[in-house]
Amino acid sequence: MAATNVGVVLARYPHGTATVDDFAVVDVETPPLDAGDVLVRNVYLSCDPYLRGHMAPGGSPLGQPITARTVGVVEESRHRSYQPGEIVWGFLRWERYTHVRSGDGLTRVDPALGPIRFAVSVLGMPGLTAYVGAIEIGRPEPGQTVLVSAASGAVGSVAGQLARLAGARVVGSVGRPEKVAHVMRTLGFDAAFDHRVATAAGTDGRGLSEALEQQCPEGIDVYFENVGGPLLEAVLERLNPHARIAVCGMIAEYEQPPEVGPAGIRGLANILRTRSTMTGFSIGDHVHKLPEFVVRMSAWMRSGQVVFPDDIVDGIEQTPAAFVGMMRGDHIGKRMVRVSDDPHPDS
Ligand code: NDP
Repeated sequence: MAATNVGVVLARYPHGTATVDDFAVVDVETPPLDAGDVLVRNVYLSCDPYLRGHMAPGGSPLGQPITARTVGVVEESRHRSYQPGEIVWGFLRWERYTHVRSGDGLTRVDPALGPIRFAVSVLGMPGLTAYVGAIEIGRPEPGQTVLVSAASGAVGSVAGQLARLAGARVVGSVGRPEKVAHVMRTLGFDAAFDHRVATAAGTDGRGLSEALEQQCPEGIDVYFENVGGPLLEAVLERLNPHARIAVCGMIAEYEQPPEVGPAGIRGLANILRTRSTMTGFSIGDHVHKLPEFVVRMSAWMRSGQVVFPDDIVDGIEQTPAAFVGMMRGDHIGKRMVRVSDDPHPDS
């Protein structure tokens, strides 16, 4: 039994952009294990944009540790399938220890396939999301142009590399100059631009359109959509015939106050004109593909065909700031919080 437990809770529901004051780091109770239960010592807490959608009445309850993906170590077990010391991931909670009733929802992690933190990044849901959107929905062909937004983040950085492995010319939209350098030099994208610089520099509010004219001179065949808003409108103007838009996320809308609501998108008639498709998808419908994906992706990583940086913040008390910073794009790669020692730091 954990002597002390600490969790990250919502102190109030954020209004618009989440701030650290919306959260609190508090002592929490961990009940004793019943037969079949497992106690997990969390090592990495995942910070994901979708969590912002749960931070509203009817979603995450106030005062209770926030449910999120974590990877950790079995500390104690009264479950016959789990032994102390094994590595597991699941939708657990932002806390040091999670009591998992009947071991429900735990998935074993094989440290031989890569660092255990990859279970919540490139070898986990973000990696599979990138694969489904970029390859299964995008269907990039050699020489075609693939545009990826939020391209230096957890999902976007993998999506772009997979499209490039398929032979496409890959262009990234990112939010800082060092991210432009990162996606081109480290991830091997063919081109990239800073959407903030482009927006500010354009004439008559056409900065993003001008950036796309420059960076995608042959038009856009596949758009991996992570953000929505003005970039999507600019993309619609440059679609090639039969383009595919994989609608993965719309983070530009997640922090709009309810009274403002989501912005309308102009230019949807371009979908009709170009006979293009927009396909929304949720990775929850594809979880059954994860075991096979993990084997393929770990091989790509071992061979150096895919590289993936993590962005690790230390200390559970830093979780609110880590999450708030992730939403505004402070990080490169996958933002997560390390809350206890990693037993396989060099695997
Ligand atoms: P990231 O690591 O990419 O972090 C979010 C990024 O969004 C930031 O780094 C920032 O990048 C960018 N961003 C934030 N606000 C804006 C804005 N107003 N305009 C443009 N860009 C913005 O997060 P993930 O990789 O975890 O998630 C990426 C997207 O994928 C999200 O939309 C998420 O909801 C979605 N997703 C969808 C899934 C599904 O099942 N469909 C599953 C997992 C994720 P920058 O600094 O470059 O602007």
